[in-house]
Amino acid sequence: MAYRITLAGEDRAFGAAPGETVLAAATRAGVRLPYSCTLGNCGSCRVHLAEGAVTYDGEPLALSADEKAQGFALACQARPLGDLVIEVPRSEVPEPSRQMALVTDVSPLAASVTRVALVLPELDPFVYLPGQHANLFLPDGTHRSFSMASAPSGNEADFHIRRIPGGRFTDAFLANLQPGDMLEIELPLGAFRFHAEDYRELVFAATGTGIAPIKAMLEALLDDPDCPPVSLYWGMRTAQELYLGETIAGWAGRLYEFRYVPVLSRPDASWAGRRGHVQEAVLEDFPSLAEHSVYLCGSPTMIAQAKAAFAARGASPLHLYADGFSFQSGA
Ligand SMILES: Cc1cc2nc3c(=O)[nH]c(=O)nc-3n(C[C@H](O)[C@H](O)[C@H](O)COP(=O)(O)OP(=O)(O)OC[C@H]3O[C@@H](n4cnc5c(N)ncnc54)[C@H](O)[C@@H]3O)c2cc1C
Repeated sequence: MAYRITLAGEDRAFGAAPGETVLAAATRAGVRLPYSCTLGNCGSCRVHLAEGAVTYDGEPLALSADEKAQGFALACQARPLGDLVIEVPRSEVPEPSRQMALVTDVSPLAASVTRVALVLPELDPFVYLPGQHANLFLPDGTHRSFSMASAPSGNEADFHIRRIPGGRFTDAFLANLQPGDMLEIELPLGAFRFHAEDYRELVFAATGTGIAPIKAMLEALLDDPDCPPVSLYWGMRTAQELYLGETIAGWAGRLYEFRYVPVLSRPDASWAGRRGHVQEAVLEDFPSLAEHSVYLCGSPTMIAQAKAAFAARGASPLHLYADGFSFQSGA
């Protein structure tokens, strides 16, 4: 092997062949690193380089210049230039496992968003941290990633699935999915989760169904006496698409100093609220983000733009967490 990659704080190390990515080398060696899209777009595989340097074929969308400068790398795209010591975000959850789940609800939330509810028939609890996602499997064995939209609660979990016209899962397969069907599911996956240890004022920015894992996090924070102030920015195109109005209204008074700011990019004339993009609305409201924890979820383009702009407002990559809803590789 050309290079040795060591996991900081652990005894484990593995070799990487010339030109191999960190993730490919880890997978070959049986070392599990968090990842999702494998295209450098979602940010799930972000690690910190304690020692060593890496190179990329092209700049990955989900890694900002600020993150790169502070030693972060995306394992799915990073190719070692020498021996590495990497720090991998820890999550105190069990290894992911595959299970068969019963579909109990398939119902519209908005014109292009469907709620899918799953139950584990053996009454085993769904084990995950709010913010994490699952892989749902198509009959041909390929999978698509979707985030749990509900806080962990027994053997039930909710998903909010946006229809991608022509998409194999979200259009064709979902159109025929019915309560009573069984779905193969793998979870818990991903490093996107709530960081209570930060104890900083919270800023959440979501686009579209990027609200799903944020809803799971905020539901877990309801009535929590240690909840810091919470601001939620949710971007959609039109008012009709803001499908969680009542749910979010119900969080007022149950989240500390909760502020909800819907932001529409294509509102009609009757919209009296904020216009434009979520990241712009956050910038308008926060002269500094230096003391905040920021959570971004949804469009990879929004996340890339927000990371760059928020860094210029002092946001630290150590307290900025993102999950890009990128396309799947079909693996
Ligand atoms: C970690 C993670 C969590 C996610 N969580 C959610 C979630 O909770 N809810 C949700 O709605 N989505 C979520 N996504 C996105 C979701 O996985 C994709 O929309 C899904 O894979 C599309 O599958 P498909 O089979 O319908 O489309 P495919 O048949 O795989 O793709 C068809 C074509 O549609 C386009 N396409 C695919 N996906 C997208 C997209 N997201 N946006 C725009 N165009 C696309 C591409 O051009 C592609 O060639 C998540 C993605 C990741 C990586």
